[in-house]
Formats: sequence, structure tokens, C-alpha cells
Amino acid sequence: MQFKDIIGQDTLKKRLLNSVKDNRISHAQLFLGKGSVGKLALAFAYAQYINCTDKQIDDSCGQCSSCRKYAGMSHPDLFFSYPVNTNHTSTSKVTKTRVSKDPVSGDFLIDWKNYIEEVKGYPDLFQWYQQIGIENKQGFISKEEARKIVHQLQYKSVEAEYKVLIVWMVEKMNEVASNALLKLIEEPPDNTLIFLIANEKEKLLSTILSRVQLIVVPPIESEKLQSYLLKQNPNLSENDLRDIASLANGDVFKASEIISNSSEMRENFDLFVEWMRLCYKKGSLEGIKTWSEKTSKFGREKQKSFLNFSLRMVRESLLLNYGNDKLVKIMIHEEQFLSKFAPFIHLKNVPIIQEILNQAIYEIERNVSGISLFADLSLKMSRLLKMDSSGR
Ligand SMILES: [Zn+2]
Repeated sequence: MQFKDIIGQDTLKKRLLNSVKDNRISHAQLFLGKGSVGKLALAFAYAQYINCTDKQIDDSCGQCSSCRKYAGMSHPDLFFSYPVNTNHTSTSKVTKTRVSKDPVSGDFLIDWKNYIEEVKGYPDLFQWYQQIGIENKQGFISKEEARKIVHQLQYKSVEAEYKVLIVWMVEKMNEVASNALLKLIEEPPDNTLIFLIANEKEKLLSTILSRVQLIVVPPIESEKLQSYLLKQNPNLSENDLRDIASLANGDVFKASEIISNSSEMRENFDLFVEWMRLCYKKGSLEGIKTWSEKTSKFGREKQKSFLNFSLRMVRESLLLNYGNDKLVKIMIHEEQFLSKFAPFIHLKNVPIIQEILNQAIYEIERNVSGISLFADLSLKMSRLLKMDSSGR
């Protein structure tokens, strides 16, 4: 990866480049930030730049032997650790790898390389679990993996100036592994750089935190994200782009998901509008019955997706009502409806509405579904919408 492949984050790029120019590269650094904002991509481009034999002012050359091996993720002095698990019973069609015991990252190296290439250096944890067929389990970085890392790094580098270890999602290390990593950071082998990548600072050992240089990676700047998305999806309008970037909060994975789910979102929206109108109208029992019948025929995932969407609409309505406009994340077509709907949502009925929606999701997860679930929910909703803000 090169710096030019990274979306936005110009301030950080400059800071990393300067650390090389000034010859003060810290041997252990933590790239911290929420979601797919470019943490791995930055660490990767940084490592490639450090080892490039023909450094340009603002990027690696992309041509030298080191750069080419980095690009193919085949450099003998570049190591990755990332969460994995066993998948021997998996029916996943994505991966051919089957691991039944003591999983270590290297077991899934081919999958990792393919995945990172596919997502252009912007991975997502759950999507990675799907790739390696462990989506029903949590991935982790085990003590066996930590032992392997320590072993690999004790040797001299093969050809690069620096050996580089990149640990993605370091919060997935268990305690034994974390302590092995801590020891490695405290007594690093010669010419070794350790780049840790994490979403959540709170889950890391404080002893590790105190020994690494912290690099906070903020959300991708909205304009930079929009122009990136436009290149990938030339049909998107300016309004759509602005909406998507705002909803995604500077997270490129989320933005792509919103784009691919947008037809589902539109369906959820239309269904929600229809539902709320029926719930509010007097004497619409027949309508509610027909609506419940239709909705009960959807698959479980679609029903859950709709109820989660409804939860979001209720939350955004409340924010609209109480003047937190800056926090409101909605699309333009939603805004038009919500400006009329929001007055019916207030602090008295919101907790109950959220509770009954969550309860319905819970029941669907336990296979309780059918017309009566949605009809019941509608009648409760109908009463709640008519409650005024004093609770009557
Ligand atoms: Zn190079």
C-alpha cells in the first residue's frame, strides 16, 4: 500500500512521513480509531515507506523490490497477526481453509492476503469472520500466535532494514498473548517495528498502552470520502453522497454497506411510513391486519432489519424534537416524513416504543413470528403514538 491509496487523512500522512524524515520512528505504535477509517492502510503504507529503497518526498516509490514485495504482501520481513478461530464445521464457500485446532493467523494467510487486496486495505471485523467461515464465533489472537510472533521476530531481517509486525485488532488478544506482546514491546529485537491496530482503547492492557506511541485515526473527512465514493459509484447524486457520508460517519466500510443496502433501506422506509400512518389513523384495524400479514411473510433477517430501521427512525425523531439537529443522521426523503412524524415521539413514549420493538426483535430471533406478533405490535404502537407528552 502507498500513501496515495489512502482516503483522506492528510494530516496523519504528513505526521508519519515527518517521523521518517526526522529519523524518529517509534518502535511500537498504536493506530487507534473507530471502524474502517484507514488504520491498517496507514500502518501498511507507513511500513512500506520506511522500507522503500527509493523514497519519494511524500510516498514510497512503488517500484523497488521492497515495494513490490510489500504490495504482494509477500515480503519476508513483514508479518501480520489478526483474529481467527477454528472453522472445521464451516459450510463457508468463501474459504477453502479448514482449521480444527489451535488456530493461528498464518493458517488463514491466503485468505487474509486475498481479503486485504479485495477491500484495498480497509477491512471490517465481521466481514473478515465471514471470509474465513467463523461468523458464529468470536475470533481471537491466541497464545500460540503470540509465541509464533516472538519466535519469528527473533531472527535477523532477511532483506529489509526493518522487520515489521502489524497486529490487526489487537484487542482480540487474550491475556497470555497480550503479556507476550508486552514483553516484546519492552525488549524489542533489533530493527523491529511493531504496529498495533485497535478499535477500542478500553480493551487493551494499560501496560501496553503506556508503552506505545498513540496515533489516533479520526473518521475520514466527509469531502474526501464523498469523492472516493463517487469514483466507485459514478451514478450517485450529490445529495446521496452527502447523505451517505454523513450516515457513515467517515467509515468507508459503512458507506459501502449503505450504498449496497440502499434499496433495502428504501423498502424499510416505505414500509415504516405505511405502518405509522395505519397506526395513527382511527379505525384502521383492517389495514393493520393486511399490513401485519404482509410483513409476517418476510424472512427473519428482513423482519429484523425493518424493526432495527424503525428503532433508528424513532431515535432520530426524538433528536429532531429536542433540537439536536447536529446529531441527526437522516436522508433527504426521510427528513420530509420525519418532520411531520417527529412531534408524536417524546420522552414519555420513546422508552416504551424502544422496548416493544426490541422485544419483537428478540422474539423473531427465537423464531416467534407470524401475523399476531406484528398485529400486536401495531396495536401497542397505535396507543403509544396517541399518548401525549405528559404521559396520558
Ligand atoms: Zn520503493
